[in-house]
Amino acid sequence: MVRTFSQQNRQHFLNEMSSGELDLLIIGGGITGCGIALDAANRGLKVGLLEMQDFAAGTSSRSTKLIHGGLRYLKQLEIKLVKEVGRERAILHENAPHIVKPEPMLLPLIKNGSFGKISTSFGLYVYDRLAQVKKQERRKMLSKEEALKKEPLLRDEGLKGAGLYYEYQTDDARLTLEVVKTAFSLGANAVNYCGVEELIYNESGKVNGGVAFDSISGKTHHIYAKKIVNATGPWVDSIRKQDRSLTGKHLHVTKGVHIVVDQKRFPLRQAMYFDVEDGRMIFAIPRADKTYIGTTDTTYRGDLADPTVSIEDKNYLIKATNNMFPSINISVDDIESSWAGLRPLIHEEGKSPSDLSRKDEIFLSNSGLITIAGGKLTGFRKMAEKTVNLVVKQLAEEYRGSYPRCETQHITLSGGDVGGANRWENFVKEKLELASKIGFEKKKAWTLIHRYGTNVDKVFERFVELNKYRFNTECELKAELYYCVEEEMVVKAEDYLIRRTGDYYFNWRKSMNRSDLVNRLLYMIQK
Ligand code: FAD
Repeated sequence: MVRTFSQQNRQHFLNEMSSGELDLLIIGGGITGCGIALDAANRGLKVGLLEMQDFAAGTSSRSTKLIHGGLRYLKQLEIKLVKEVGRERAILHENAPHIVKPEPMLLPLIKNGSFGKISTSFGLYVYDRLAQVKKQERRKMLSKEEALKKEPLLRDEGLKGAGLYYEYQTDDARLTLEVVKTAFSLGANAVNYCGVEELIYNESGKVNGGVAFDSISGKTHHIYAKKIVNATGPWVDSIRKQDRSLTGKHLHVTKGVHIVVDQKRFPLRQAMYFDVEDGRMIFAIPRADKTYIGTTDTTYRGDLADPTVSIEDKNYLIKATNNMFPSINISVDDIESSWAGLRPLIHEEGKSPSDLSRKDEIFLSNSGLITIAGGKLTGFRKMAEKTVNLVVKQLAEEYRGSYPRCETQHITLSGGDVGGANRWENFVKEKLELASKIGFEKKKAWTLIHRYGTNVDKVFERFVELNKYRFNTECELKAELYYCVEEEMVVKAEDYLIRRTGDYYFNWRKSMNRSDLVNRLLYMIQK
């Protein structure tokens, strides 16, 4: 068997995982679990990861899709955190330039709003210094006229000017995928659609495995490991409950909703971070031919696997948007798609959802179960470092091994090997030329280059092979699907439509029109 991250190899990986004792079993294939798999595999551990849905199907495909610089933490005077996330952002951009890209963000200053001109200018200045923001990305303060020139849709009334700073845009699900693919290339085994239903304990009451149910084959696997990490995001407390260790601190799950509107209805040019009447702030971000707006932040107690978007959520975002951009006058009928995500935050008595800290924390139970809770997409590498440091410390004490330090800051993620982030634009140009030579449609090629980075070569190679036969149709889609099945473990059409491409959110109509075709082609490829 060729060791590829293929849907066809899932069974083999599960057999491998259950055939001997792993050093580390990770429960949960969101960004947190995948980040831990990457760090642990790189330090030489024998790693297995199990995800009960698809990779990133939990919160890690439902965020605002930003790699933050930590401005929010500055407001809360968390100076150390501002420095750390600033550094993390720079590392991620360097290691994955195809999916982590700078995005200038406008912060409008409104009469009686959260930010005054002097405090914003000073705040952003301090932020630039603390987060070591690159010179060309440092803050600019704009007059009212300059702000309106950047974004003519902005409301005129009460506008005093704006601050311009940088966030980085990403695709959260693709980032998770690139991390798990990189972990796999370093020796970790990872399987989707296989949940841990029960924990296994040895005679001393220490947790040493999990009973996993593969919902595709219907088979059950007993997987043993020296250490078990619970990285299940919003589900961490349900695993802790099984472990009888749900005492003391616990999660406070909050729901965040985003809506997507066509650029024809909301032709926003410039990404914005703006005030809402209730004192919160939300983003509006142009992406491809759409604008997405979010997020809400409300306490959530419903089904963790299927949070839904309510009419109140929609109305809240529509009202806030119309208030800041009065000329567009959008309504609920303009919403093309939407998503709801759950923040796995740590409960603090008396605090409202928006005031809860986004910090992460590790809980160690009497049975030895290691749980990592809280945190952000942006900080996943540091969260993984902390968790794996604890794992290797325990392994070294209990089994007398020695393990290297975390080196993930130097690991280029799958698809990101373009020779450094500053070569990205050249890389895109070269690949567009290649696409034109082989007859691949330009706009589609551009999308795939930005989606798969250097791995786009594999899609192009397959396209050339398929395109040799004149009777062959849909060669571009087929080539991409082959890649997703063989190297990104796509099992179901929704894996491709939602998490490998994001089309379900940002190209809703097309994704609906093509879902039958995608289903048919997947059936053919997976046979
Ligand atoms: P998840 O992604 O939920 O992963 C946990 C996984 O565990 C799930 O896939 C689940 O299926 C699996 N699982 C559960 N139980 C089991 C089991 N028994 N067996 C196997 N698998 C199991 N952060 C940022 O940095 N930038 C942002 O712009 C940003 N925006 C956000 C906006 C919103 C609305 C929300 C909700 C969050 C946002 N965040 C952002 C935070 C960030 O998205 C989360 O912190 C992060 O995605 C959490 O990842 P996770 O891996 O811990 O959890």
